[in-house]
Amino acid sequence: MKKSKLIALLCAVLLISANQIALSQSINVPDQGLKSITPKEMKAHVYYLADDRMKGRDTPSPELDSCAAYIANQFKSYGLEGVASPDNYFQYFNLGRTSLSSPNTFFLNQAGTEKEYRIKYDFVPMHNTANKKVANVKIVFAGYGITAPEYNYDDYNGIDAKGKVVLIFKNEPQINDSTSIFEGLKSTDHSKIRVKTENALEHGAVGIIFLPDPKKPFKRPPNSWPSLMRHAIKDAVPLTLEETETNKLVCVNIGKNLAKDILSETEYTCKRLFMEIDSTLSPCSFEIPDKTVTIQTSLSSHPIPVKNVAALIKGSDPVLKNQYIVIGAHYDHIGTQNGNVYNGADDNASGTSGVMEIAQAFSVCNPPPKRSVIFITFAGEEKGLFGSRYFAGHPVPCKAKDIVAMLNMDMISRNDSNEVAIIGSGTSNMLKKVNEQANKNYVHMKLAYDQERYFLNSDHYSFYKVGIPVLFYNTKDTPDLHRPTDDPEKIIPEKMAKIGRLVFSTAWIIANSPEKPDFIKIR
Ligand SMILES: [Zn+2]
Repeated sequence: MKKSKLIALLCAVLLISANQIALSQSINVPDQGLKSITPKEMKAHVYYLADDRMKGRDTPSPELDSCAAYIANQFKSYGLEGVASPDNYFQYFNLGRTSLSSPNTFFLNQAGTEKEYRIKYDFVPMHNTANKKVANVKIVFAGYGITAPEYNYDDYNGIDAKGKVVLIFKNEPQINDSTSIFEGLKSTDHSKIRVKTENALEHGAVGIIFLPDPKKPFKRPPNSWPSLMRHAIKDAVPLTLEETETNKLVCVNIGKNLAKDILSETEYTCKRLFMEIDSTLSPCSFEIPDKTVTIQTSLSSHPIPVKNVAALIKGSDPVLKNQYIVIGAHYDHIGTQNGNVYNGADDNASGTSGVMEIAQAFSVCNPPPKRSVIFITFAGEEKGLFGSRYFAGHPVPCKAKDIVAMLNMDMISRNDSNEVAIIGSGTSNMLKKVNEQANKNYVHMKLAYDQERYFLNSDHYSFYKVGIPVLFYNTKDTPDLHRPTDDPEKIIPEKMAKIGRLVFSTAWIIANSPEKPDFIKIR
């Protein structure tokens, strides 16, 4: 493109967004909506959801179902329709408790000969592996399998993973280094199997082989399959979201002997690769020469139904009502452990209360907004963003392309009483500007933009993945996060109400703007 053309295009883009913002500035947020969001009601919802008798809202559990019924009843009491049908607020989906099926095989091929390896001793299928066979495919070592522009780190830089199996480490570089760019001793979401799998898929890989941890003494691969163990641990195999095979890869753990055989003709050992990346913090990725693998994995899955809870306000404009804004929060938490209830008051009874209060605020405004609004609380966030991933893949009552923005609240009740972190604002100029405008006119909080490292952490990410601009409201970590001490007594209801009003105002302005928000791909 010529420079002059580029400048003209840039000017046009700037003008459009300036226009959008000017137009949205004239939209007033109804006072009755703002007033209906109260600290008292926020507090009451949190005390209900985070009570000990809810046993930490594990997915799945009867207590989570009780919370779902409570949320649905609130929606109903506001006069809102369900998304599934006017009086059905539940979107059901299945989680899978997987078990090993057959065949599960692993061959390493070199110079026309193939060597077969043994399940349990040399390799073990992962709980999320595909029911698939990959035959004679090349292997690329791809470090930790991490692409993290925010840390200026990309294991896939300079390699081609398309149609190949990636050989990667678990966790993240410098895991035991308090000065690591990956948040010191804390693990970031890049260390999660879900994120590594999505990243491998995005780079066109057909499978993942997880290397053993060189610091651990065990020769065998990690294994949690009851059928391969003498003493099976209950619930040792994590639940998975039942999804189509196209979203899955062949995934296996391998032990030390097999790792050694794969790397035998390279200049590296597992330990050297590990130390090289840790000491330089630069990727060390390369294709394994002269070898291919043939891997087949087979699992069977026992479905467990769970549900998102969602209500709807239909837009008042004949055209714009076909576009939707989603306001969401996860309502699950992590259950009980060793007799301790993990109440999850901040994480995320607080955001769930926010969704209910904002739904109520919309319901008292007449006329309704021009665009339609979906209020949704997700199950299974703590186990892998299950509810939001399912909804983003199977939205009701619209298509993903009709969703113009997603606003997510996860942990909105703690720390500085007047500060809220806004994450994901890079995904849309208009969303960021409207949120700032809403804050300036109606709420006056301090907006922090320093928590972008949590962009992968919560349900908005599932929407971003399908091309929807997002904002994620969060009041930062506390020492009580994922501890039994995340209790209702510690929340600040006034702060929750302020954030509720901020999200409501932002959503109201977006819902009534002539233009829909722009979308920017940020990773
Ligand atoms: Zn959370």
